[in-house]
Amino acid sequence: MDKYEVLSEYFGYSSFREGQLNVIDSLLSGQDTLAVMPTGAGKSICFQVPALMFRGITIVVSPLISLMKDQVNALIQNGVKAAYLNSSLNEKQISLALTRARKGAYKIIYVAPERLNTHAFSALCDEVEISMVVVDEAHCVSQWGQDFRPNYLKIKDFVNRFSKRPVVCACTATATERVRRDIIELIGLLGPTVSILSFDRKNLYFEVVKPKNKPETLKQYLALYKGRSGIIYCSSRKTTDRLYEVLSAQGLSVTKYHAGLSAQERKQNQEEFVNDDKQIIVATNAFGMGIDKSNVSFVIHYNMPGDIESYYQEAGRAGRDGCSADCILMYNAGDIRTQRFFIENPSENEELSSLDAAKLRKLRLRKLDDMIGYAECTGCLRRYILSYFGERTAEKCGNCSSCRNDDNKESLNQYAKMILSCIVRTGQNVNSELITDILKGNVTSQVSEKGFDRLSTFGLMKNVPLAKVSEIINLLIRNGYIDSDGGRLRITEKSKSVLFSGKSVDFSARKARQNLSADDESESFDRDLFDILKKLRKEIASSKRIPAFTVFTDATLKIMSSKKPTNIKEFSEIPGVGEVKKDKYAALFIREIKAYELRTGFQSNADLPRKPKWNF
Ligand code: ADP
Ligand code: ZN
Repeated sequence: MDKYEVLSEYFGYSSFREGQLNVIDSLLSGQDTLAVMPTGAGKSICFQVPALMFRGITIVVSPLISLMKDQVNALIQNGVKAAYLNSSLNEKQISLALTRARKGAYKIIYVAPERLNTHAFSALCDEVEISMVVVDEAHCVSQWGQDFRPNYLKIKDFVNRFSKRPVVCACTATATERVRRDIIELIGLLGPTVSILSFDRKNLYFEVVKPKNKPETLKQYLALYKGRSGIIYCSSRKTTDRLYEVLSAQGLSVTKYHAGLSAQERKQNQEEFVNDDKQIIVATNAFGMGIDKSNVSFVIHYNMPGDIESYYQEAGRAGRDGCSADCILMYNAGDIRTQRFFIENPSENEELSSLDAAKLRKLRLRKLDDMIGYAECTGCLRRYILSYFGERTAEKCGNCSSCRNDDNKESLNQYAKMILSCIVRTGQNVNSELITDILKGNVTSQVSEKGFDRLSTFGLMKNVPLAKVSEIINLLIRNGYIDSDGGRLRITEKSKSVLFSGKSVDFSARKARQNLSADDESESFDRDLFDILKKLRKEIASSKRIPAFTVFTDATLKIMSSKKPTNIKEFSEIPGVGEVKKDKYAALFIREIKAYELRTGFQSNADLPRKPKWNF
């Protein structure tokens, strides 16, 4: 099979995403490779596709048990022979897995770094052919990254122990120049291909708010995100607990996560969230690394994090499925005090020398300043973040709160001008209803009687919603740009500056909340069907005790809800449907879609197939 066949057969996709081919081709040619890609770009496929094409086994070193479990689950769902070895297994299970590995039962094996140099694992590596070693979350090898793991320093020795050295692939989603250098050196990549993909996540909308009353503001956001899955990050366990209480009392579907909970509770709560049993998780930054949940559609930071790396990584857990998602930062002065306190009273890294500790403290303070810069930024937020990571971008992205406010201001000004000049052209002798009719291009008897349909301003605001036109007329009246005494509209001294001297109006319209992705109309899929398919997915996932998104991602279900495939061929053309998933799920989903179409009357004579057996 070539790489395209592997992609389609196992993963159900027909084309590679930007950046994937680069990494895949490099690995296939036997070249060590460092892949730096933002979360959600599709890192895993970059090494999983070559792994399936190499003759021997691929070992993936991964820092977290939950991460391994999810990835292996997802691979098995796709029909790939995979397993993991970590401390969640007992001795017996481990030796069973090793025996099976020896017999060639697995193509990909995930291991924790501390297991690499154990006797049993070394013995396995001596017996079988290891084609590739993948180091996931490779920044863990660097002290200058967020999540230093001393055990990662042992990877280099492990790789060098082979007489026939396997190709090495290191991947990370965050790496500044310094961390990149560390990765290459400390893992010992040989003349590696370095593939760095833009950190821009176009589907993410960024917003900063400075609420007077955080709980109240949060409530408004959550009302907007009703029915969607999201993460709320807090800076302390206490806030997490308190917020969890508040939201539960509001009847929301919510769970929580922080390091103060028992391991059992953490595991359970995390699973509830990942499996869509709970929609919202309130958490400290202890939550997230290794969470592969793809349908998170908002991440709200209830408190400001300590640096841009953390913020972007946490916020980046939204929208991994490529659907539009929101990243909201709620910020006030208290957040700065909290972060300063954390820096002055570090809990971790106690083994650092006092010199290193002082260096680290300085570095953190500098990073905090950059973070505050983001919270206070009046320009494009995306541009700010990307330039922090050394990327140049356009002045405006159009998809952050700053850009949208600017756009709103600009269009507000234009609309104000249209309205005012229309008033002038009518001889300042009409009421607001008539003005609205003229601007909207409505030919009423009054309009045609007076010949207003021949004005140059007739129909000028045809494409602007009626409510918006009325809102701006009212704003102009309230702010002294229009005199409406006796119902007739007249322009004022103040409005002349807007009409003739190019000045801007001095008020702003209601903040365009509807711009948030929560009301994104551009995603044209059938929401009702989507909800039905989500329910089916959940039933399947619960019965198999696997995360829902490993059955199908939201992105796949959305396309299904839009294309509505009713036969196997159409079904297999949906992105995300590979050979194995087609065989397992096509009948179930097609049946649900047909039933839905029958109910909604699109397909009156479809004969409903018998309910297929649950056959996984
Ligand atoms: P990362 O590890 O970089 O955060 P993942 O590997 O989890 O990202 O991929 C994110 C999502 O993108 C997954 O749902 C994955 O199935 C999907 N994906 C990856 N590659 C492709 C592709 N070529 N076409 C369509 N979807 C893809
Ligand atoms: Zn912007």
